Amino acid sequence: MDIRLNLEEIKNNIEVHARKVNRNPDDILIMAVTKTVDVERIQEAIDNGITDIGENKVQELIDKYPALKDKVQFHFIGHLQTNKVKYIIDKVKMIHSLDSIHLAQEINKRAHSNNIVMDCLVEVNIGSEESKYGIDPLNVMDFIKSLESFDNIRIRGLMTVAPFMEPEQVRPYFKKMKELFDCAKSINQKNVDFKYLSMGMTNDYTVAVEEGSNIVRIGTGIFGKRLYNMEVK
Ligand SMILES: *Cc1c(COP(=O)(O)O)cnc(C)c1O
Repeated sequence: MDIRLNLEEIKNNIEVHARKVNRNPDDILIMAVTKTVDVERIQEAIDNGITDIGENKVQELIDKYPALKDKVQFHFIGHLQTNKVKYIIDKVKMIHSLDSIHLAQEINKRAHSNNIVMDCLVEVNIGSEESKYGIDPLNVMDFIKSLESFDNIRIRGLMTVAPFMEPEQVRPYFKKMKELFDCAKSINQKNVDFKYLSMGMTNDYTVAVEEGSNIVRIGTGIFGKRLYNMEVK
């Protein structure tokens, strides 16, 4: 896999699809999803313009952190267990997977003791799928309001992993996310400061861009197929 060429193609596609709907392609962040990808290949992506990476496992993030912390910003994008918040609170720029009050409490507590305010996205289970984490779309507004007392959390927007379908079939879900985003953005609450709509992966990012995403999270499209039994170090 040629990481440089892959990134070039992705940038081109984003440009084409952003222009199609009169958006500025520069407003869209390409986040490289680096689960199972080793430090050398991540470095190659960084050398080709990647500034932000997403990991979905705490241990893997911790393993790669020392080698990359001065070169790239880490995001946490996977399901986060409350007992592991303490290991990443000082390492990540944003947590994309806030999906319960219990987790919010822990993030708030750890952020407070680190003297920081943690940027978080509320994960939405936009397809209301049994197998997926995230807040049901019907409960997103109430969920955000229930976070009001957490002064060490800043709610920056929404994230979703859309149902896995043909890209065109995913479009209605992305539209619904954008509607939710615009609705929740107007909540008048001191820790709500909406900026990011994190949606679109290798399979469907061009559609996500057309529907208003400003963070696409791309793994396979940059690094090729993941080898899950590979030793990650
Ligand atoms: C793995 C993963 C991605 C990237 O998936 P690809 O299909 O490889 O682009 C994006 N978001 C989350 C939350 C992931 O776990």
